[in-house]
Amino acid sequence: MGKNWRRGKSKNIGLTACNAIAGRLKADYLTFSTWDRVGKKYGVSGGLAYRVANGYEPRGAKARAALGFPVLVPAPACACGEVHLRKGRCPNAPKPTPPAWVTAAADLLACRERVAPAPVRVYGRGGKAVTW
Ligand SMILES: [Zn+2]
Repeated sequence: MGKNWRRGKSKNIGLTACNAIAGRLKADYLTFSTWDRVGKKYGVSGGLAYRVANGYEPRGAKARAALGFPVLVPAPACACGEVHLRKGRCPNAPKPTPPAWVTAAADLLACRERVAPAPVRVYGRGGKAVTW
């Protein structure tokens, strides 16, 4: 894989890795006997340590790193060479050109406007339309 990385989604971590972290926390709980002390060991709250031990996967990068969850996963780069977080059309790709008739119609309208400029409507006081 290349040098491009982005934050991984929860589905990218294998269940085995999840269970390994949860198992480690449970083992720590047996050692320390309170979740607060388990959390302290990893630098997270006791509540979070408890939830992770029961299968929860933290979202925050800090907590993930502290508990040993993979924070970064390799992401394939787009054809333009960048990694986009959003799926779909590449924002760097050239915009699709409008069909020829659209261009022709726009030219026609512009031409007509030059011959007879559209009346300017100004709304005066009381919402009364004034045209000149
Ligand atoms: Zn792109």
